[in-house]
Amino acid sequence: MSELATRLDGSQKAHLDKIPTDSTGGMTHEGALARMAALAPELDRLQELLYAAGDNGLLIVLQGQDTAGKDGTIKAIAGAMNPTGVRIASFKVPTPEEASHDFLWRVHRETPGKGQVVFFNRSHYEDVLVTRVNGLITESVCERRYVDINHFERTLVDSGTVVVKFCLHISRDEQKKRLLARESDPAKAWKLNPEDWQARAHWKQYASAYEAALTACSTSYAPWYVVPADHKGFRNVAIAETVIDVLKPYRKAWEAKLAKIGETQRAALARMRAEGGVD
Ligand code: AMP
Ligand code: MG
Repeated sequence: MSELATRLDGSQKAHLDKIPTDSTGGMTHEGALARMAALAPELDRLQELLYAAGDNGLLIVLQGQDTAGKDGTIKAIAGAMNPTGVRIASFKVPTPEEASHDFLWRVHRETPGKGQVVFFNRSHYEDVLVTRVNGLITESVCERRYVDINHFERTLVDSGTVVVKFCLHISRDEQKKRLLARESDPAKAWKLNPEDWQARAHWKQYASAYEAALTACSTSYAPWYVVPADHKGFRNVAIAETVIDVLKPYRKAWEAKLAKIGETQRAALARMRAEGGVD
């Protein structure tokens, strides 16, 4: 278990203000970079095993306020893996067609098949966060959606998908710094969205919507991990360590399956050679 990440399994109410946004796990910035460099080959190996064994999928859900670092996380974590087996699904304001269906319609079809890793850049959780803060749904619809989400995630897990959900936890001050940095850097200004400042004005409402969702939808089979996101290096380490932790229990079974497949293929080749079919 990563020292940096806080695992929520639903047994307690989530209190975001009690979880620091700037933990370092006792590392220096250079130490975090070195740690990430050491973890990258492990992420690559585990993804290769998951892909080759083809028994499980991995769904990594990323949520966080604007500028919390969802894109940067994908760059760091997906970037350590083989792109062949990895897909990114980004969820924006629903299109008219998406909005005409139930909220899980557009989400379910983006989930990973066996052997695949999928990153959700935002997710079905927007349907209990932004919608709740903006008053687009009632409290009772929101409560019903928590139940739907838990059933949905249970369905994914029951069919062999590993579900790991990250809340990128940044402070209000750090967000302001990042928004202003975007504004003053011509290379980053394309990311500017005046609506981010409006959402920021509802910081408290977002925090309580997050706490309610994290409390209702943290389960033993699909827990939430709150990771400190004020510093990118420590955030990346927290997420890499957690992903490795959740995949590790599968490693032996995947390796055993691949060893068996390898043996079968070698035996088939040996037979072909014995029969003179290979030069
Ligand atoms: P970004 O991820 O910054 O490109 O922005 C995507 C925007 O889409 C964010 O403002 C989200 O809040 C919004 N969004 C994503 N999913 C939903 C949803 N289900 N309902 C309403 N807005 C959403
Ligand atoms: Mg945005």
